[in-house]
Amino acid sequence: MSPGTSSLLRHERLFIGGSWVAPQDGAIVQSLDPSTGRPWASVAFGGPRDVDRAVDAARTALAGPWRRMPGHERAALLHKLADLYRQHAPELATLETRDNGRALRETRLDTGAHPRWFQYYASLAETLGGRTIPVDDSVHAFTTRVPVGVVGAITPWNVPLMSAVWKLAPALAAGCTVVLKPAEQTPVTTLELARLIEAAGFPPGVVNVVPGGPEVGAALVAHPDVDKISFTGEGATAKAILRNGADNLKRFGFELGGKAPHVIFADADLDQALNAATGSAFALCGQSCALGSRVLVERPVYERVVEEFARRAGRVRVGMPLDPATHMGPQAHEAQLRKTLSYIDIGKDEGAQLVAGGARLTDGAMEDGWFVAPTVFANVDNDMRIAREEIFGPVAALIPFDGEDEAVALANASDYGLAAGLWTRDASRAHRVAARIESGIVWVNTYRFLRWSTPYGGLKHSGWGRENGLEGLDGYLETRTTVVSTTGQFADPFAQ
Ligand code: NAD
Repeated sequence: MSPGTSSLLRHERLFIGGSWVAPQDGAIVQSLDPSTGRPWASVAFGGPRDVDRAVDAARTALAGPWRRMPGHERAALLHKLADLYRQHAPELATLETRDNGRALRETRLDTGAHPRWFQYYASLAETLGGRTIPVDDSVHAFTTRVPVGVVGAITPWNVPLMSAVWKLAPALAAGCTVVLKPAEQTPVTTLELARLIEAAGFPPGVVNVVPGGPEVGAALVAHPDVDKISFTGEGATAKAILRNGADNLKRFGFELGGKAPHVIFADADLDQALNAATGSAFALCGQSCALGSRVLVERPVYERVVEEFARRAGRVRVGMPLDPATHMGPQAHEAQLRKTLSYIDIGKDEGAQLVAGGARLTDGAMEDGWFVAPTVFANVDNDMRIAREEIFGPVAALIPFDGEDEAVALANASDYGLAAGLWTRDASRAHRVAARIESGIVWVNTYRFLRWSTPYGGLKHSGWGRENGLEGLDGYLETRTTVVSTTGQFADPFAQ
């Protein structure tokens, strides 16, 4: 053991086929703490041969006990996992905060809610069924739902546990088996989750965890025995995955980026709207696909909103993420820090008016971490790059508009279509405008309201398919139609 590494958390085994195994062609890699930039954990990464082993294990489990296990028994395992997750939620929150830098107050809220996903999908596993198709007396036609098969789940670094839970719960409820590959920057909590899966008693191979970078993800995508890829990450990666998986006609689920419009009409309850708009612009250190990063404000209240937005940005307590008083931690990795800072420069160069933040923070304990001040640009034009491109940092762009039509036009002038927010006291307008906004979810007089039961996913470049809700389960099922003759008669087609 080299000096200075004795205090590292060690997770130096992959979880394959129900066993903790050393990587065959991967490596042991150090995971960095974003609040210090220093290693804090030592983690096993897999290689292509490890992916092969994991897919074999998943395929064997699928053909074996898992395929035959009735829905109520799968549900019981999911309930057991929910119970274990609840017991371990506080430590999972701490580990997630160490690995990706989100403030503990956020990760605690998240991990406290995750068991509900396992419970919700457990109830669906018990009630999963097809339907009877009315035809005529000569046949009985019905459908059954069958699992897609082996799922390769590839998750991002901003919400490692959430993304794993959102994929695992419906996939397991559907009867699929899974090879899970967390992002290279944040592998630790997914390995911890594997411990809970093991303790819950899932048959070996039903869930396998192989951390690693793009080459491990690519091996999973190219593998002929993987039936579906469920991917959360960037659009550019999704395109590479599509090409790579084309040869064996895989199924794909894509949860991709966003540039959510948060529309504030002049008649809105401005105090509430500002709570939501500032909260959603700086949540997850700005590293959220649902980030309300384009704040569209009706002109009569624009100046007031700009002033108050900037004041509230200054109130955000940025600091060490394990401190329960901290509102916002660092960016999750150094490349993201560089990206956020470069977009702040781009905003200034484009002529947007910087009214809050705009710099890296290095005071005191933050010296070596990847912290950025909550940043607000005013007088932003929707054509500017800071309004069009996903920054994925705590940078809000405040854009003025006049009237409903312009609000809708600006909201929709984006390649993305994941989420949108809308604030007005006029109920008719709320429905009118919500119906015209091109996004997978629209929040009216609220924001980032996410539940296990509410479908979530994108239009346009924000993705394919939905996670959560009944639709989330559909993504892991195929429909089989069975037609049974009630007569057993089949006319000879060549008799005459
Ligand atoms: P990313 O695309 O860089 O990486 C995501 C995952 O893909 C990682 O596990 C990575 O190792 C893997 N990967 C990279 N190249 C690959 C390849 N060629 N083949 C297979 N796998 C590969 O994304 P990121 O930077 O980790 O995540 C941020 C992005 O995720 C943002 O765009 C964000 O909006 C999006 N996101 C979307 C949602 C949603 O629900 N829509 C949720 C969270 C994050």
